[in-house]
Amino acid sequence: METIRQVEEATILRLAPEYEPAEAREIARRLIEDLRGLRRTDLLLLTGKDTLLSPEEITKLEAALSRLEAAEPLQYVLGSATFLDEELYVAPGVLIPRPETEELAQLILQHTEASSWRRLLDVGTGSGCLAWALAKHLPQLDQAIALEVSSQAISIAQENFRRLYEQSGREVYLWHEDLFALVEAHTPPPTPLDLIVSNPPYIHPSEAEDMTAHVLLYEPHLALFAPEESPLAYYTAIGQLVRQGYLRPGGSLWLELNPLYAEQTRTALLYIIGSEQAEAELIKDMSGKNRFLHLTYHSA
Ligand code: GLN
Repeated sequence: METIRQVEEATILRLAPEYEPAEAREIARRLIEDLRGLRRTDLLLLTGKDTLLSPEEITKLEAALSRLEAAEPLQYVLGSATFLDEELYVAPGVLIPRPETEELAQLILQHTEASSWRRLLDVGTGSGCLAWALAKHLPQLDQAIALEVSSQAISIAQENFRRLYEQSGREVYLWHEDLFALVEAHTPPPTPLDLIVSNPPYIHPSEAEDMTAHVLLYEPHLALFAPEESPLAYYTAIGQLVRQGYLRPGGSLWLELNPLYAEQTRTALLYIIGSEQAEAELIKDMSGKNRFLHLTYHSA
């Protein structure tokens, strides 16, 4: 049997080829906490580093380490990702929520009209992070719909929405549908929505060479990459939904976007919806890049 201290040091060494020392130490701590179902304070203060780990715990840790050594993201190995200070369930098949998307959720929640929004649609919900945060925190929300095309993502989002319902009684309705098919169907809801949000796939395939193995080998390309020939295809499709009457006059559209195409995205949306019908502003993320768009829809 080995102590926590011994296992922690051995784990850091194993992770050294993949991770910087400080990150390897942090990951080692997270893995051991996960094994023991402990939080940091418990691990350090209550348990102490001389506690022995059982052979079953070592076997579990070994399995996690093999996955990390093959560059699999920590969030998949732990089955959990932090979003707005809470833990969401994630697994291979779904995009791991990014800090930018947390920023988008916060921008939406801080908007002056946020307290009046009742009905929302999240296009391409993935893990469900945006719909989950809005359903949880918008005070008047009574209908949240999350659209998703991937069956794997659907089952992961379903688990997050199930936990949300258990915690707070807030419900999100999952809709297994393809955005482009929805646009083709041309069937806007009888009562239009107050809010449409989306973090669609927006990386151009030519940007792949700058991406890490953690992302490229493990995260779903369907959720990452825009079509090579029409990188704005998801945005123009969402614009079509607005034009078809999915959003009520006075309603808000919030999008995460690729800073490389920020101006084009804004121009394309205003062209589709009508520049007389809407106002759209680009908003910078915390690293100073144009990453978000907020469009206010005036009239049909
Ligand atoms: N934000 C993702 C990333 O940086 C890109 C895809 C997306 O979120 N829509 O990897």
